Amino acid sequence: MHERPLPPAMEPAELTWHDDVPESVRFGDVYFNRDNGLAESRHVFIGPSHLPERFRQVPSLGHFVVAETGFGTGLNFLTTWLEWLAQRPANDNAILHFVSVERYPLTRTDLEKALSHWPELNHQAAELIAHYPSLISGTHRLILAGGKIRLTLYFGDVLNAWQDLTFTADAWFLDGFSPSQNPAMWHSETIKQIAKHSKTGTTLTTFTAVSQVRRVLADAGFDMKILGGFDHKRDMLAGRFTAEMLGEASPSVDQVAVIGAGIAGTLLARNLAERGISVLLIDQAEKPGSAASGNPQGALYVKLGVEYNAQTELAATALSFSQRYYGAWQSDFWHPTGLLQLASSPQEVDRQRRFCERNTYPSDLMRPVDARQATELAGIAIEHPGLWFPGSGWLAPATACQQLADHPLIETRFNYQIASIQPCNSQWSIRNSKGEDRQIAKVVIAGGHEAAKLVPVPGELRLKPIRGQTTQLPAPRFNLPRTVICGTKYLNPVNGGHATTGATFDLRDDNPTPTTISNQQNLEEVTAMLPAVSIDNTLDADQLEGRVAFRCTTHDYQPVAGLLHDKTGDPVDGIYLMTGLGSKGLVWAPLLAEYLTDMITNQPRCLSKRLAKRLETGRLYRT
Ligand code: SAM
Repeated sequence: MHERPLPPAMEPAELTWHDDVPESVRFGDVYFNRDNGLAESRHVFIGPSHLPERFRQVPSLGHFVVAETGFGTGLNFLTTWLEWLAQRPANDNAILHFVSVERYPLTRTDLEKALSHWPELNHQAAELIAHYPSLISGTHRLILAGGKIRLTLYFGDVLNAWQDLTFTADAWFLDGFSPSQNPAMWHSETIKQIAKHSKTGTTLTTFTAVSQVRRVLADAGFDMKILGGFDHKRDMLAGRFTAEMLGEASPSVDQVAVIGAGIAGTLLARNLAERGISVLLIDQAEKPGSAASGNPQGALYVKLGVEYNAQTELAATALSFSQRYYGAWQSDFWHPTGLLQLASSPQEVDRQRRFCERNTYPSDLMRPVDARQATELAGIAIEHPGLWFPGSGWLAPATACQQLADHPLIETRFNYQIASIQPCNSQWSIRNSKGEDRQIAKVVIAGGHEAAKLVPVPGELRLKPIRGQTTQLPAPRFNLPRTVICGTKYLNPVNGGHATTGATFDLRDDNPTPTTISNQQNLEEVTAMLPAVSIDNTLDADQLEGRVAFRCTTHDYQPVAGLLHDKTGDPVDGIYLMTGLGSKGLVWAPLLAEYLTDMITNQPRCLSKRLAKRLETGRLYRT
């Protein structure tokens, strides 16, 4: 057996191979039938759950949730994906959610080998492999087939998964190796959790017909029948949840107003639109990405904490999700050049040493490098060691906002100065300074620090703007890196003749105009961190161009995403907040947009309850 890695890395499955059929060393069992695993998956799971008929009945803005114990090679997932595509019209907005848990995930290489067994799944398998997350614990949302398929893959133990995730299953697949080899997967506590995620009529199928399993399922409210098993297996079980239990009702959301067309608002608008919901995107400026998201370049960067606590997990989850999300925009505004986080001060050297001693991260997410390796990666001389994030890079945020807002279901209203948001006929009336008015049931305020002024309930939200000035370094006069470099400052690779560096962090400074002093500060700090950048001593800071923006931060420097609560803790129906992204908005926004859209549409959540709690709006009030 492998030695267990330190968190957050998962212990991968250890396999032996019979040709290309994998067997688990730990459980002494094969992942799928040697002769015809695909037919077995259809026989045991798809058919007895009546998925073809049920898939056809899902309304065009609806969704269907399959939940599985034991992701393994993803064969059941891919079979279900194919069935969904076969049953749904091509121009459809309905979504298949597949929620699965895996304690010993296959490595990407093993996954590729195992799935190469199925030529009929080639296309879907390649997409799954391309999106397969780094093996770190926690919840990973994969958006596949242009958003029609959403996989929530929980790396961790089954009981934790079902305690921590929010979803209601329409169909359960129990596929966790046999009860004799793996009793934990069939424990009555686990089955009770399965019942909690079910509603009357939820189906459940499993390859086993062991009487103990049948009894536990019956106790939990499932009425099970024995059916003929696949191939040489005599029996299997299939049944329904018959206890009285209503699932979360699917709300009929047909339109959402999003206030703020920065990276938060445009990613949210796009996410809603791609799930078939009309969006009214409002901004006081004349175009998207005019404020904090208007810088020419921004780094996809988070600082992961030394302790792997909920805060670090949220940051790592957001980083890995954002890298997958932006992958679809590579030819547009996303530049995955890799990113170096330099240890350019003694404190940071010490912090990174402790970070590396206490954590293991898979090398496809992050690995430590010495100064020589950093130099090779960046293409300029670097004197410090650091951490290398191969899947990170930089974005052109203003271009991103413009492209994201360009969708047939997004109606934009720019130069729209909101005067008030008030309740009106069970909706919200959004009135502008010219007296124009739009009434909409659901409103998301994604307006940076301006959100504090817009919320329609009394009480001061602890959101504050912090000035940041970036500086443009002209290419011929500087020796610029080919990767993003972060440390005391960040520096991007050249784009269109300039590289953006910055940003200053000016507490209690509300000057919106770029200053030579701030350019000077950026220049001094970036050249102190990277002396090799400087090749022209004649350049003065007043010859440089700068841009000022105001980041919106919260008192605890953590972002906010969720239903607004008032000061007394009561929810404000229909009003949501997405703000407080600080200087890490490019990393936070894709995940928070996915999460808020899940919440607004009552779809399975992409974040565990434990992490979602950290985003709640109630903490913004002073107590
Ligand atoms: N459904 C899979 C497929 O389509 O390839 C096959 C699943 S395999 C039979 C069972 C899986 O359950 C294994 O990948 C195993 O690592 C996982 N597993 C076993 N015990 C677990 C636990 N306690 N929590 C989560 N996953 C577990």
